[in-house]
Amino acid sequence: MITKKTSEEIQTLQAAGNILATILHKLGAAAVPGATALDLDDLAMELVAEYQVEPVLLGYHPSFAPRPYPAAACISVNDCVQHGIPTADIVFKEGDVVNIDMSIAHEGLIVDSGITVPVGTVAPDVRKLLDVTREALAHGINAAQPGNRIGDISHAIQTFVESRGLSLVEVLCGHGVGYAVHEEPTIPNLGRPGTGPKIEVGHVYAIEPIVNMGSADVYFDDEGDGYSVFTKDGSWSAHFEHTVAITENGPLILTKRRS
Ligand code: MG
Repeated sequence: MITKKTSEEIQTLQAAGNILATILHKLGAAAVPGATALDLDDLAMELVAEYQVEPVLLGYHPSFAPRPYPAAACISVNDCVQHGIPTADIVFKEGDVVNIDMSIAHEGLIVDSGITVPVGTVAPDVRKLLDVTREALAHGINAAQPGNRIGDISHAIQTFVESRGLSLVEVLCGHGVGYAVHEEPTIPNLGRPGTGPKIEVGHVYAIEPIVNMGSADVYFDDEGDGYSVFTKDGSWSAHFEHTVAITENGPLILTKRRS
């Protein structure tokens, strides 16, 4: 079942989204050469305390994982596609790309967002990866109009990314969000227009294209930390994610910084 949020709940989600966007912005600015993924997670814990929100990924136990998630944020560097566990061993270098993905709860409601930031100056093809992924998210959001279908979001993301010669990870998808971290519907990043559930006013989605520079193939590091997903060919990957409410006027991005 796809839940519908009331306009009051969407206002609360928007306040939560503003806080999460501010936290992610501060975390992104801290991804400098020599800093570690654990430094970022420590800062994330300080910021959730400061803004009095809950880091819902900490202790979250998805069905695929061997143990509850041990950190506030997922920090995935270069060829780590998603779900990287922040440790002190992961030291950022000039030219790296760092994905920071985080969910928070505020007044009982959950938002989910992610950014991928360059560490210092990155190579031109890496810059393109970031730009295409960010723009793919914008295309996906733009297709999230009431009356459209989920496949329209997928198709908008797929056609844009493929037109730029990059590939989308098929096994990792967007999702409904708000009362829980992962709700229905699943929002694939590849798909056909006019297919899937209908998009309706009151739905809240986390839309999140995950784009690789090389092949789309990934593997789950079951032998390692049980969470990290890597590209099979070692190529680098990027991810941008917003939580979006469907309103009568179209999609409203909730995880945006507002003054
Ligand atoms: Mg998500």
